[in-house]
Amino acid sequence: MKQNTRTNLSPKYGPWAVVTGASSGIGRALAVELAAGGLKLVLVARQRGRLEELATELKVAYGTEVRVMVADLSRPEEVEQVVRSTSDLETGLLVAAAGFGTSGEFLSADLSTELEMLDVNCRAVAALSHAFGGRFAARGRGGIILMSSLVGFQGVPRAAHYAATKAYVQTFAEGLQRELAPRGVDVLASAPGPVNSGFAERAGMRMSGAASPEEVARGTVAALGRRGTVRPGLLSMALEAALSPLPRWARTTIMARVMGGMTAHRP
Ligand code: NAP
Repeated sequence: MKQNTRTNLSPKYGPWAVVTGASSGIGRALAVELAAGGLKLVLVARQRGRLEELATELKVAYGTEVRVMVADLSRPEEVEQVVRSTSDLETGLLVAAAGFGTSGEFLSADLSTELEMLDVNCRAVAALSHAFGGRFAARGRGGIILMSSLVGFQGVPRAAHYAATKAYVQTFAEGLQRELAPRGVDVLASAPGPVNSGFAERAGMRMSGAASPEEVARGTVAALGRRGTVRPGLLSMALEAALSPLPRWARTTIMARVMGGMTAHRP
């Protein structure tokens, strides 16, 4: 079993944490980071095999107690099921990392996929934050981590709708943070740039210079309770420094070039 050298997260955010999107990429890396910080975990996603593999890994590495919960978060009744089936656990942290992106011209996109993205990236995030935020506020402590993105701070041609879902998450997190801070609940928006995960393939993008999910997870957990928004990874910090002084229209022009490069292989 690995020696636990991380800060013990349990007194403020434990004993249980619910992590959506734990089967891959950033959600998976966050689950590992939280297990190292002493939290018990509920792992949520659609792919049972991957969740069970991670559960075994965490039990062996950290002796973590883990529950696996298979749910399609584009379906409101399955989001409800996650809420109901965790009501017996003393949960102190929600990590809403499940999400996906699309790219290309909006008018050429399959509308049902775009609406599914809205359900996973926004609707499920609102429903889970409402349910778990209420539980945390009632006991006067806890935390919520929401996955925003670099693309959420301006319009992004060729990822217009995906960027809009991330703008929703960023704005939601900023407001919720002020509402819940007096009730002992920390809310963090994590807004990375490109990350090397399953995301690019599903979104039809090609990324270079991407951060690792582990780097993003470490930066995110380190910022919880200290900041309202974190831009984990060197590239996202550099991009923030370059983009944030510019007006929105100029950032949109630059992001059009960036996204054009990431989707240049597409017709
Ligand atoms: P990823 O490796 O593709 O992981 C996405 C996770 O979301 C998977 O665990 C997937 O699990 C889950 N998921 C997707 N659709 C779902 C559904 N309908 N129901 C339940 N779970 C679902 O991508 P990632 O990079 O880790 O993305 C995590 C979050 O970070 C997303 O919100 C993304 O927008 C954000 N983000 C990513 C990047 C990037 O460049 N990668 C940058 C900024 C922000 P199953 O397939 O097992 O359901």
